[in-house]
Amino acid sequence: MEVITKIADLQKKIADVRTGGNIIGMVPTMGALHNGHLQLVKRCVAENDCCVVSIFVNPTQFNDKNDLLHYPRTLEADCKLLESVGCTFVFAPEVEEMYPVEDTRVFDLGTVAEVMEGKYRPGHFNGVAQIVSKLFDVVKPDRAYFGEKDFQQIAVIRSMVKLLNSPVEIVACPIVREEDGMALSSRNVRLTPGQRKNAIGISQTLFKSRTFAERHTVIETVEYVISTLNAIPDLEVEYFEIVDGNTLLPVDNWNDSAYIVGCITVYCGEVRLIDNIAYRR
Ligand code: AMP
Repeated sequence: MEVITKIADLQKKIADVRTGGNIIGMVPTMGALHNGHLQLVKRCVAENDCCVVSIFVNPTQFNDKNDLLHYPRTLEADCKLLESVGCTFVFAPEVEEMYPVEDTRVFDLGTVAEVMEGKYRPGHFNGVAQIVSKLFDVVKPDRAYFGEKDFQQIAVIRSMVKLLNSPVEIVACPIVREEDGMALSSRNVRLTPGQRKNAIGISQTLFKSRTFAERHTVIETVEYVISTLNAIPDLEVEYFEIVDGNTLLPVDNWNDSAYIVGCITVYCGEVRLIDNIAYRR
């Protein structure tokens, strides 16, 4: 495994790999890697000849400067983990390498980028599209792997590749959870032990809501999840929406779509956590 920080160096290596007719897979990350990331990387390694993992805390996707400041950075440990699962290249550039000039591009990503996270984190998905499009331009992967933990992000990336006529195949991978059900996230390390205990309520309530949904309406289920979580100390729901899994628009009835997902964002103290659950798939 090689760790590369310059675009030109990575491009040279990738060109060599390509001449052998090899298939290239890529996993974009912001580092502070955990088992959720590693499942994406393992799949990328298994399905491609060459696996490129990028580690870059992208400033343009943070609408909260405090969040950017506190985002964990653990490059050395990340590289050890990546080596152990067979990654070929780690691309870990500095900010100036990815943004030699300010990126002023505005992407029209449609309604999938405007609802939910789009509403509460203005500019976030535009920043994601800026960095992922740059990474795709550099690596030109055949496939790119994303986690369903960031459910809306996958829809946004699919919209972006369509907009840009990009030939990259987007591969969605299931959410990886702790044994107690909590979705793995780089932000979990910022929780105090007490907050971490209370945060279990998020996934537990989502799981329980599946049973609740069998005998209740969509709106009753939304209310059940929000009121249950807001009653737990440390937790405050920012939004919970039950949406069509493709359009991300809210559904009124369980029969409105064959693919229905509940997407949630909860503040646990100052830490913003997201999760989601499929009701119909
Ligand atoms: P991040 O480093 O948070 O930008 O995440 C990089 C990639 O890993 C994204 O595609 C995430 O959706 C994915 N990811 C993060 N946490 C998980 C998880 N618990 N399960 C599955 N994928 C995840």
